[in-house]
Amino acid sequence: MEPMFTPALHRQRHQFVIDFVKRKKPKKVLDLGCCECVLLKQLKFHREIELLVGLDIDGVQIKKKMHGLAPISTDYLQPSYDQLRIELYQGSVTEKDARLRGFDLVTSIELIEHLTLADVELFSEVVFGYLTPEAVIVSTPKL
Ligand code: SAH
Repeated sequence: MEPMFTPALHRQRHQFVIDFVKRKKPKKVLDLGCCECVLLKQLKFHREIELLVGLDIDGVQIKKKMHGLAPISTDYLQPSYDQLRIELYQGSVTEKDARLRGFDLVTSIELIEHLTLADVELFSEVVFGYLTPEAVIVSTPKL
């Protein structure tokens, strides 16, 4: 079957985040429901970012592909490389975690449709009432 959208919609959502990062230059970015770290792997090339954190409830998913976040030899040629720190946590967006506070940008791409309605309420409380980042990008393929 031919794809309905080119590039695929989930890639367009990642591109939206990347364009936002290029424009606003956040230093600390947190990706909720980072899954196999696809978005984080693209964000690590944005040199203004100093701290990149991924959170997912499923530690197995994170571990599967996280090696793609490790430095490659050309990274060391970038003068700003030393300033990038990447951290991955297993945990839930429904729980208040002090390590996730103080971010400039929090992203949640294709995550909320996986939550129960009660957990969406908790997600809102955690993100907007506790984490209180400068900017939040939430996307979902479901209406
Ligand atoms: N954001 C990814 C895709 C997300 S798929 C991307 O853009 O490619 C949804 C992810 O949300 C899954 O990895 C799932 O394990 C995670 N997830 C589901 N419930 C969660 C919760 N309560 N807290 C954190 N992550 C959760």
